[in-house]
Amino acid sequence: MKTSLGLVLAFCLAGLQFVAIIIIMWSSYVTSERVLLDHARNLLRDSGINTIAHSKGFLNPAQDAAELAARIAENKIVASDNRQLLEQLLFQQLLTAPHLAGLFYGDERGNFVYVKRSDVTAPFRSKIISYEGGNRNTELIWRDRDYVAVAQLPDPKDTYDPRKRPWYTQAQQQRSTIWTDPYIFFSSQNPGITIAAPVTASDGKIQGVVGVDIEISELSEFLAQLKIGENGTALIVNQNGDVIAHPNPALLKTVDTDGSFRFAGIEEIEDGIAQTAFGGLAKLDPVLVETETYAEFSYDGADFVSTIMPTISAELPWTIAVYAPKSDFVGAIVQNRTRNIWIAALVSVLTGAVGLLLANYINRPVRAFAVRAALISQGEVDPSEPMPRTYKELERANTALTEEIMQRKTAEREYGQTFELSSRGMVQISSETGRFIRVNAKFASITGYEPEELLQMKAVDFLASEDPAAFNRILSEMLDSGDASVVRKCLRKDGQTVWLRVNAILIRDNDGKPLHFVATINDITKSLNSQKQIEKLNRDLSHLARGELLGQMAAGLAHELNQPLTAITQNADAALLTATENAGQDSELQQILQELDQQAHRAADIIKALRNFAKKGEEWKTPFDLDALIGQTLHLVKAEASEHGVRIEFNPGDLPEVTGIRTQIAQVIVNLLRNAIEAIAGTDDSDNSIQITLSADKDFVTVSVEDSGPGVDPGLDLFSQFETTKADGMGLGLSICRSIIETGGGRMWHEPGQAGGACFCFTVPVAQK
Ligand code: ADP
Repeated sequence: MKTSLGLVLAFCLAGLQFVAIIIIMWSSYVTSERVLLDHARNLLRDSGINTIAHSKGFLNPAQDAAELAARIAENKIVASDNRQLLEQLLFQQLLTAPHLAGLFYGDERGNFVYVKRSDVTAPFRSKIISYEGGNRNTELIWRDRDYVAVAQLPDPKDTYDPRKRPWYTQAQQQRSTIWTDPYIFFSSQNPGITIAAPVTASDGKIQGVVGVDIEISELSEFLAQLKIGENGTALIVNQNGDVIAHPNPALLKTVDTDGSFRFAGIEEIEDGIAQTAFGGLAKLDPVLVETETYAEFSYDGADFVSTIMPTISAELPWTIAVYAPKSDFVGAIVQNRTRNIWIAALVSVLTGAVGLLLANYINRPVRAFAVRAALISQGEVDPSEPMPRTYKELERANTALTEEIMQRKTAEREYGQTFELSSRGMVQISSETGRFIRVNAKFASITGYEPEELLQMKAVDFLASEDPAAFNRILSEMLDSGDASVVRKCLRKDGQTVWLRVNAILIRDNDGKPLHFVATINDITKSLNSQKQIEKLNRDLSHLARGELLGQMAAGLAHELNQPLTAITQNADAALLTATENAGQDSELQQILQELDQQAHRAADIIKALRNFAKKGEEWKTPFDLDALIGQTLHLVKAEASEHGVRIEFNPGDLPEVTGIRTQIAQVIVNLLRNAIEAIAGTDDSDNSIQITLSADKDFVTVSVEDSGPGVDPGLDLFSQFETTKADGMGLGLSICRSIIETGGGRMWHEPGQAGGACFCFTVPVAQK
């Protein structure tokens, strides 16, 4: 199926446009996505750094407070056993640092002072454990902001021993400030940590430990306020995998097996996204990363980016983990991408439509050209008619096409004329069926059929006595070789036999498939007949030549012998007369002489008879056309003439018929021509020609044969017997010729030719009507 130029152009334009836009758009999309994701990464890291700074800023004062209290205790600014003063000192610290939940001091003897914030009775509550005289006193005091005791209660059931608490033992063993892991405070049930600093005596012994409780819920609040993209979240994970700060603090706590609260682990927190992003961290022990780690992941069909920051510090072995949906950063460009795809599609459709219009515009002249070309080739439009509006290229194509068509038409016309008007028969024969496809008038006249009749016939139908199978064999051989030249005897419509020479060639199409044969047919019946006549003439001539030669020799001999024989006869007669007078009738001499005379007379009679034989032939005289006879004799000397490069010029004229013995006259002409060719052959002259001229008067037709040779040798006695200049000549030819001509009633003579050659002439009587 051929595709329309318009559609191809439209689709190509639209497709190219679409591909170009998509490539540009995709490249810009990928670039901007990368930039935005880099930006997201930076943002996540900034949030992490921010959280770290905030955490440090939040916790450092607590450390300062604990260490300050310890230093005070060490420096005995507050006697460690002056519990009232110590309580007051701790109260002051609590008052000034709002994020501290409580401060406390325990010593080696089990004494304990604890000041903390309170929700009931008063804003602060102190717990003081003291051993006096081996008795343990536990007292609870509620105070207002001015340190005024609002309520006071003993707590005899209390069994708390500071020296057994982990913060005490760790600080005691490490002899430096320690930070506990975050845990859920028992009293407030809020998450927090404890910082503890040992108090050392001047002898280096540990006297006690100062501790500070810090609630870290504030870290979760901070995280909740943090702005990370639209929906980003940061959380703080402890080194053991506990999530200790989360924008949603409710998720932090979980109930332990013993009924107490504990932190939810990163792999169990009810934040699916955080679990997916950071759950893997739980496998690490401790949960620490040394370098900032950026990752991308999918959760519930949405894509996210995440960053895990390195551990904050040795004291705070926490990791800040931040995640945010990818769409917060690249959502806009994804939307943009979708919009751009639609724009690309729209532009492509528009381009396609424009392409279609354009193609139509371009194509219209092309279509008009194609239609015109088709009409021209069908002969419905004259190629010389002006072209419609078109392109330069098409104009050139039109010129070439027009020329081509004109040439083709001329060739067709010429072929048609050649075919129709040819002096030979011409036919086209189907190579498949052998049937005539086209025949010309000449072929019709050769065969005697009408052209319409011939178109119904096959070539084989003409063959006289030819086996169709043999003919088909010839056809298939012709198909193989591509041409053929045969002579066949054929039958005309009227039943006459004709000899046809057929020259055929096979015409094939561009793919080499046989189309038909084109054959030229010559009727060679006449020329075959005249050939036969020439052959017969030749045979007659050689027979005649032998007879003439014999006759002429006999005549010559008779002529030559006649005189001596006459002399012998006369002498024999005289001798007989003398002998008779001298010796009488019966002498032996007389007998011998009589015998001699008789034999001499007999010899003379034989000679006479021989001379009469040479003169015979009168009875074979017939009227004939001298022109035609000369034409035939030319065939006989053709080979010799062309061997010596001699040209024979003969212009037949409209002459009356002559009378004579046809073959003898032919013999004369052949003789003269051969003499002329031999004479010319012996020279170097370039004009090797023989001119035969005929002229007629009332009684005779004169034939002259003039050659361009050297002319007759002057010392030669022409027309005499045995006169020759040739090594192998007999010198009888010319004398025989003259005798033939003269016997036929004509004359023969020689005259010098105009160009120096020889010119032999003879006359033949005109036939009487
Ligand atoms: P032959 O040909 O056997 O010699 P011819 O009687 O035919 O006998 O010729 C006799 C001689 O006449 C030739 O030998 C030749 O010398 C001369 N002769 C004949 N025809 C020509 C000619 N056309 N031109 C020159 N000489 C000729």
